[in-house]
Order: sequence, then structure tokens, then C-alpha cells
Amino acid sequence: MPRSRARRASVALLAVALLATAPIVSLHAQTPSARSVAAPGLPSLGDGAGMSVADERRLGDKIASQIYRDPDYLDDPVLTDYLQSIWQPLMAAARARGDVPPELGERLAWELMVDRSKTVNAFALPGGYLGVNLGLLAITERPEELASVIAHELSHVSQRHIARMVASQERLAPWMLGAMILSALAAGSNANVAGAAVAGSQALAAQNQLNFSRDMEREADRVGFGILSSAGFDGYGFVTMFDKLQQASRLNDDGAFPYLRSHPLTGERIADMRARLPLGQTAGPLSLAHQDPAKPAATAGLPSIGQHQLMSARARVLAEGNADRWRAWQQQGQTASALPGERYAAALSAMRLGQRDQALALAQRLRGEVAAAEQPAVDQLLLELLMDPGAPLSGREAAQLATLRDQLLASGSRAGLLLGAQAAIASNDTSGASARLLEWVVLRPRDALAWQLLSRAWQVQGQTLRAVRAEAESRAAHYDFAGALERFKAAQALPEVLRAADPIELAIVDSRRREVEAQLRLWESEK
Ligand SMILES: [Zn+2]
Repeated sequence: MPRSRARRASVALLAVALLATAPIVSLHAQTPSARSVAAPGLPSLGDGAGMSVADERRLGDKIASQIYRDPDYLDDPVLTDYLQSIWQPLMAAARARGDVPPELGERLAWELMVDRSKTVNAFALPGGYLGVNLGLLAITERPEELASVIAHELSHVSQRHIARMVASQERLAPWMLGAMILSALAAGSNANVAGAAVAGSQALAAQNQLNFSRDMEREADRVGFGILSSAGFDGYGFVTMFDKLQQASRLNDDGAFPYLRSHPLTGERIADMRARLPLGQTAGPLSLAHQDPAKPAATAGLPSIGQHQLMSARARVLAEGNADRWRAWQQQGQTASALPGERYAAALSAMRLGQRDQALALAQRLRGEVAAAEQPAVDQLLLELLMDPGAPLSGREAAQLATLRDQLLASGSRAGLLLGAQAAIASNDTSGASARLLEWVVLRPRDALAWQLLSRAWQVQGQTLRAVRAEAESRAAHYDFAGALERFKAAQALPEVLRAADPIELAIVDSRRREVEAQLRLWESEK
């Protein structure tokens, strides 16, 4: 994506400038304070070991606002829901264990983002923003493997490692730090670091300044393992994930595993994880029949291996831009013995290749092959394929589209709501969808994609003023206050006939415009 590269290059160049002028103490020379080692489960808020929670959140918001604008930022409702089904139990366990005390829980963002990149990476940013690349989702085979990496990153945040690291760079203004972190991230999502030549090497230098210390890694492993197990995931996921990263990086040393650069896998880390498992689990290869006897019974709400395999297949296809790979997956998923993940990848690949009839046939077949837990994911795929404007629908397909649309709109899941709304917009029949979207954003005003769809739904209904307001809200939700203000002003400048309909609506626009103006002033004063 050229636009993304250009932006990343400019961010990286910014980092070059500041690395040249501001010598930075390497984090590797530092160890956490004695207090944090003695009581690692109790983050010491505002004790001077790091920046304050409020400052960390402000820095994180600034960084997040840049990430939201990056074309590689991906809010795929299907994958987002799946990641939430892993993230929410981990967060609940971290809160219950006291790893995330109430103040930290309330004041940080705790938001998991997705990057389109197919390189294998996960990262924790200041302010409680975390990210995973599609590449990581694509190489994992079981929910607990993905969960182990996310639990580890979550622990870097809960243990205030980031605040301590950032505070150690005290000579830098926060915006410079933000630029450094973004450039390190850009290097991490670019498989071909050599291709980014100059920017890449400088970004790598920035990355080296920002790596966690060995003590922090050990602590994130230990706390992360506790969170993973308490959430009901199989702790063995940590071990298989380590093995997988190690094997894959041995075969593949082309920079596709930036996760290993920032989280070196030492023999000690692996041995330490194995030692945490109950006896009897540490030997022998992993089999699909592996069960953790110590696992509490209350894991019913966690995603199944089958769900994971469908979502991992989705991540593989979405991260891939090469049509030859899509053709290979399309072939592979057509055989009678294809696994559900392979069938899913084949259907999605066929759609990307413009072969909608075949994509639909594969998805219909998959529907009959999966267990109940995986049914919603297949229904969502089917609706996506039916909505594809590539070819006209038969009468039967149109009926199926309408049924799935209504079912998904009422399903209560975010993916169902947003996909259903998209289908409603495509068929110019949005009254049901806009009411549900409005209910949704009232409770979740930071859901930018939901605001965007609401804007389109209102546009379909000819409610121009409301549509422009929803567009403004979608920008404000991603901290684009200047863009939001511009839309609110545009709403107020609409010709009388378009905006006169509803005085209440006009009053809302006016008060929201003032609020956003104030937010913008504050935001700019913080630079
Ligand atoms: Zn780490």
C-alpha cells in the first residue's frame, strides 16, 4: 500500500532526526525498580517509577489517532468479534486477579487493534492500546496460542512496563516518543525491512531503544500465564506458541517475525513456561486430543478450536494480496476431505478472485459441515458473499440474503449488526438497521465503524443532517477532532431545506460542535 509506506517513511524520518539530536538511554541497561520486582502483581501507580496513568493515556491516544488513519488499520467486524471473545475473558481474569486494579482498568483504553500486515507481530502501546497483526492470527491453530501472546502483551501494560520504559526516555517530548513508537511499529509490520532501506534501519534503532528488559519479559510471561489460566484457557498454549515461533523463525529469517526481535525467545523463557504447567503436561508432542485436567469447567464461553481455525483462515486470506496464493487455497478447499478452515479460505479466496458462484457453493457446503459453535461465522461469510455486488442474485439467493440479514441484525453481536447493516444499505432498506445502530452507538460512542454505517443508513433515508452528524461522530471516535469539527460545521452550513426539519437535531449538532471544539483545543495544547 503506497500511501501507507509514504506515511511510514515520513514518520521514520522524523525518528531519524530525533535519534541524531537526542541521545537516549538504552532500556537494556536498566532493570525494573526493586519494588516492582518484589511486588510485581501490584502495579505501583504514580510512584515515580514511570509516567502517570493520565499522561500515559494521553500519549497512547495520540499514537492511536495516527494508527486509526493508517490504511493498514483494520476493523473487520468478524475478526474483531473473534478477538474480543479472547480478549474479554483475559481482561476479566486480569481484573479479578488484581493484575488490573480498578483505577488502571478505568483510565486506560484497553483496546485491541488489528493491523492488516501478514508479518507475525503483536504489540503493546502506551495508554492500554494493544495490537495484533493478521499474520499472528494466521499462524496460530488454537485459541489459547493467540490468547497466550495477547495475555503476555496485556501484562506489559498492567505491570506498567510501558510507563517505565517511556519515563526512561525523559529527554524526549511525548510527540517525539510517539513518532519513535510509530516508526518502530512500521518496521514491525513490514516483512521486507531491507526494502524500506534507510527508514528501516533507523526504525530498527528506534525499536532497540523501545525493547522491554529481560526482567520485564520474564514478568510479562509469568503474569500472562496466570491470566491465561485464570481465564480458562489451556496454559499449554504458551508452550506451543513458543515452539511455533521458534520453528517458524528457523525456517524463515526474512524479517517476517518481528515479534521475535522485540520478544527474543530464550531457552530460559521456554523452560520457565514448561515448568509452570502441571505435571504430566510437559512431555510429548501436542495432539488435538490434549486436555488440561486442571482446566476449570467454566470455559464454555471460550472460543472453540473450530472457530479459531475459521478465523485463522480468514486472517490468512485477508492478509494476502497475491492472487496465486488465493488460487492455491481455492484449489485446496475444494477436495472432499478439506478441513473447515480450508473450505472457508477457499470460499473467501474465490470471492476475491471474482468467482462468486463458486464462493457461494463452497460456503453453502461448509454450512453443512461445521458444528453449531461455528455456524454464526459461516452465516456471516455467506451474507458477505451474497452482498458482493459482483453478480445479480437468483430469487433463492435474494431470499437467503434477506433472511440472513434480518437474523444477523437481531443476533446481538457486533459483526452481525454491522454486516446486517451493510446488507440493508446495499438494498436501500435501512429503517430497521438505523434504529439498531443508533441503540448501539448510544452505548458505545467510540465505535467509529458503527457511526459510519449509521451515517450511510441515514443518507439512504434522505436524513442528510443526521448523516453528516454521524460522520462527524465517527471521526471524533478516532480522535480526529479537526475532521469532526469540519463535519459539524458542514452540517450547520447545510441549506435550510436540508436541516430545518428537526430543531432537536440542530441543537444536538450545535452542542456537539462546541464539545468537539473544546476537545480539539485541549488536544492541540498537549503537543
Ligand atoms: Zn514482551
